Amino acid sequence: MLLTILFGFIAAAAEILGGFLIIMKKEWPRKVQEYLIALSAGFILALVLFELIPESLELLGGTASLYMIVGFGLLHFFEHTVVGHFHFGEETHHDVMVSPVASISAFTGLFIHAFFDGLSISAGMEFNFSIGLLIFIAVLLHKIPEGLTIASIMLAAKQPRKNAMIASVAIGVATMLGIFTVYILASVDSKSVGIAFALSAGAALYVGASDLIPEINRSGNRITPIIVFGGMLLFYISKQLMENLLLH
Ligand SMILES: [Zn+2]
Ligand SMILES: [Zn+2]
Repeated sequence: MLLTILFGFIAAAAEILGGFLIIMKKEWPRKVQEYLIALSAGFILALVLFELIPESLELLGGTASLYMIVGFGLLHFFEHTVVGHFHFGEETHHDVMVSPVASISAFTGLFIHAFFDGLSISAGMEFNFSIGLLIFIAVLLHKIPEGLTIASIMLAAKQPRKNAMIASVAIGVATMLGIFTVYILASVDSKSVGIAFALSAGAALYVGASDLIPEINRSGNRITPIIVFGGMLLFYISKQLMENLLLH
């Protein structure tokens, strides 16, 4: 349990760090952001296809599909159905991001997203350590870009720097809320952890395929799409390392 909370804290801290980089106007090369997004896209999609979907089906049988599509749908609803303009990565479209309402709705979408990041780490850790650790890596890889996203949305909407700071911290808190929700669920009914696991599988699929991949497709840099395969490879290596270290 302590380890899960630690993972949550590290992920939340990376998020807040991303926010600070924007607020402090630290030079943050666009390339690094793109490469991180590409690496985490490949990693998380491999994680979903090799671990999260098969394990969800094993835990819940056919009903897992229902929870997976609900998890996918929840993020789609909060990030792109009720929100006019939202995408992952640093917000550079100041023309469309002028109203406070636009920034608050984008914040809500990202809050739900971050909640599921925490929920997946925690549900994974309940399932077993190696899956928990793999989910943690997948989340951590995209947390700095996520912090950049929220802080830059706030600044693009002409919100004061203080609000950008509060928003980054709040998204970090959302991650922790996700972590603790699984504990509450686990103490109420152990079966609900399986449901949280399947929901987060669907949410992780959304993060990889709809938050991260479109940012890569938008990139003018030809190297970025190749790094997605690097992320898949990184998943494979991490999984092999983990199996060898844990089983021997
Ligand atoms: Zn934009
Ligand atoms: Zn995230």
